Order: sequence, then C-alpha cells, then structure tokens
Amino acid sequence: MSEKIVEIKNLVKRYGDLLALDHFNLEINQGEIFGLLGPNGSGKTTTINCLLSLLSFDKGEIKLFGEKMAPNKYHLKKEIGVVLQNVAVFEGLTVYENIDYFCGLYINDKKLRKQYVEEAIQFVGLEDYKKMLPPKLSGGLLRRLNIACGIAHKPKLIIMDEPTVAVDPQSRNKILEGIEELNRQGATIIYTSHYMEEVEQICTRIAIMDKGKSIALGTKEELKKMIKTGEKLTVEILQLSKEHKDCISKLPHVYQTEYQDNNLVIYFNGGKHNLVRVLEYLGENEISFGRVFSELPTLNDVFLEITGKQLRD
Ligand code: ADP
Ligand code: MG
Repeated sequence: MSEKIVEIKNLVKRYGDLLALDHFNLEINQGEIFGLLGPNGSGKTTTINCLLSLLSFDKGEIKLFGEKMAPNKYHLKKEIGVVLQNVAVFEGLTVYENIDYFCGLYINDKKLRKQYVEEAIQFVGLEDYKKMLPPKLSGGLLRRLNIACGIAHKPKLIIMDEPTVAVDPQSRNKILEGIEELNRQGATIIYTSHYMEEVEQICTRIAIMDKGKSIALGTKEELKKMIKTGEKLTVEILQLSKEHKDCISKLPHVYQTEYQDNNLVIYFNGGKHNLVRVLEYLGENEISFGRVFSELPTLNDVFLEITGKQLRD
C-alpha cells in the first residue's frame, strides 16, 4: 500500500447560503500527479484553501501525511509548497529576493538556501531575470516566479491552483514539464485546472468536480471508459438521404448520428474498424465525401455525459 498524503472526508464548506463543497471526498497517494478538474466555480480553490487551513470549514475531516491538519501544524505546512491561483509575490523585491524570502521561511541554513534558490531559478528558467522586479515581468514569467517561490524549499507535497491561466504557450509548456520533473524528483502534486488537455497530459489520476462534489474519479483511461462514447467520426458529405443516414445508424456500435451543415457525425460505443465500415458503406453506395476525421473521447465528453454541461462554456 502506498502512503496516503491527502485524505479529505465529507468536507462541507458554505459561504453564507452557497454550498461550495458538498460532502467532498478525496484521497491522494504518494507519488501522484493528481488533477482536480472542474469548471470555474466548482470548488477547486475552496478545496485547496481548506486543505491548507487557510479557510475554516463547516464539516468533515482533513488529514495530511496521515495527520489531522490544523492552522498551527507548522511541521506539516513546511512539507507543502503552494502556488496559489492569484500570483502572490512582493513587488518591491527582485526575482531572486522573492524566492529567497519564501525559501527562507523554511530553510535556515544560508548555504543550502542559496543553493535551493539558484536551483529554483534554473528550474523555472528565470536565470536572466534574477535582478528584475515583478512588475517588469510578462504574465508568463510572473507565473514562473510564483512557482519558484512555492517550490524552492523542496516540499514533499506541491499544490498548484491553475498555474497556467493566461500564460503564453512557451511558459505553459515550461510549467507542465516542470511539474513532471518535480514529480520525478519525488514530490506528490495536486494540480487544479479547468483545461482538460493539461490534466490529461500530466495527471496520473483525476477527480472531476462539479458544484462542490467529486463526480468522477480515475485515470484518464478509466474516466473515458465510464461513458458511452468510444469514438466520434465526422464525415463531410454534401448530400445524404435519410435512408442512407438510417442505414449508417444501424452499423455495428453506432448509437447516434447527426447530419448538419454537410457533416455527418457518427458516435460509436467502442468497437473496432468503425471507420473502415463507414467508408465501405459510402463506397458501395457511391456516396461521395470530403474530409473524414475520427476523435477519441475527451474529458469534456466525460463531463458532458455525466452533467449534461460543457466543461467550458
Ligand atoms: P473554482 O476554484 O473551482 O473556480 P471556487 O472554490 O473559487 O471554485 O468557488 C466555489 C464557489 O464558491 C463558487 O460558486 C464561488 O463563487 C464561491 N465562492 C468562492 N469564494 C467565495 C467567497 N469568499 N465568498 C463567497 N462565495 C465564494
Ligand atoms: Mg479557482
């Protein structure tokens, strides 16, 4: 059994009348890159803030490293690195001084601290900006500084709340690669995002959140197996009679077809050789077609099928 780093049981958090967390449960094992995926307002940041004891909650229990978390548990807090959703750095301190300050909260030894700060700067690629003040940095570089401040002291658990929002693609890739590297070096990661592509790319397990609840949990493969859609095929056809559409609807594994704007969309619940069968049918019936493309289900499809809503609106 791997060690449980995070255990959240039946967490309830209200803001006045609003139920932000509704008996939320979560367990994260050592070594995971755990993704909390959910639309804006689903309760990701509230979960993180409760986890860190930055926010009190109404009901439930939170354990970190097997121990009950509380605001005064500094020995637990020092094992955690936090990258909050809103960038939190000192505008009057340089890049180097900012990282040194946050690292200094946990690392007393001067020599070791210098080494850690330099490593963090290298890690996020800010070598050329050490003496710069944060207001001079671009959005992406500022995010990287925010990350360096959170991870410099080499925590065992790293929590990142939407670290790539409004970040250019280059910084974004640097951040995602960085997270994987931190994980390889031994850190357990909690990563929140409303970008399904990112979560799919880096996370070992994912909890999909909606309205303060965890509505699905698993690896991306497991999540995709929970839903009916196995493959979605789009074929550009200028003219398709109702008869032909009905016949295609009866091909093996097809559970739904839509014909709109000269595009036939065919949904399959799994199965193999779906494309070949469709192309054979079109050929045999001399139906001419243009572009064809096949898509495997995304985490948005999972969210859509469970909630009836798009992940991003
Ligand atoms: P996410 O991080 O997934 O976007 P949040 O945890 O920030 O979601 O918010 C969950 C819900 O709680 C939302 O409906 C949000 O409007 C509400 N909320 C968050 N913070 C506060 C607050 N300080 N006061 C009142 N409502 C809040
Ligand atoms: Mg948030």
